[in-house]
Amino acid sequence: MPRKIAAGNWKMNGTEASLAELAALTANHPAPSVSVLLCPPATLLARMSATAGPIATGGQDCHAAVSGAHTGDTSAQMLADAGATYCLTGHSERRTDHSETDAIVAAKSQAAYDAGLTAVICIGETLAEREAGTTLAVITAQLDGSVPATANAQNTVIAYEPVWAIGTGLVPTTDQIAEVHAHIRAQLSDKDIPLLYGGSVKGTNAAEIFAVPHVDGALVGGASLKAADFSPIITALENA
Ligand code: PEP
Repeated sequence: MPRKIAAGNWKMNGTEASLAELAALTANHPAPSVSVLLCPPATLLARMSATAGPIATGGQDCHAAVSGAHTGDTSAQMLADAGATYCLTGHSERRTDHSETDAIVAAKSQAAYDAGLTAVICIGETLAEREAGTTLAVITAQLDGSVPATANAQNTVIAYEPVWAIGTGLVPTTDQIAEVHAHIRAQLSDKDIPLLYGGSVKGTNAAEIFAVPHVDGALVGGASLKAADFSPIITALENA
């Protein structure tokens, strides 16, 4: 798989009709020169995986256990069985809405590895943490706590997503992205793990973000729902 990744997170959006967007995306990009990943809701994962062609699919979360009495949850094995090759772990909405700690994120990431999935481990500071000047300390602690010791360049992608930039239209300056990505790269210097930026990426700002050192792609929420919005981001990454 190419190292550069354009990843889309559909969150809790999408029904059968939304598969038309996948069809449009594969028509626009029959042979992308970068990795393209879509993470639909679990209800669409198998159907999307069956027709995704060159596009990889992933879950948005997994349980740390293989199976058992966990009503409403989905194991990493189940995601793999549905055709996924990736799984997001530790997205800020999971950390906030479901009180996921770094230790839980690490356990889920290990479960993803054990199922043969690549974990896209999400980290990022809140606005209060940035304003307090603790961004790099927060990132250090999240990497220490959320990334399993078994992480490597094949089974892991890190997505730096400032919480205040997700779904808000606010985007850090390229200097701010560069500072955090250089920090992550230095902290993981023994592992050549791809690093994504996420938070209000659009076709209009993608090229500028992809020019930042140590940015290997993007994790995209809102702008991944429509092929017309996601395609320019994929093209910008191909041209970066
Ligand atoms: C996300 O959900 O990870 C995300 C970055 O969302 P958005 O692109 O909508 O900010």
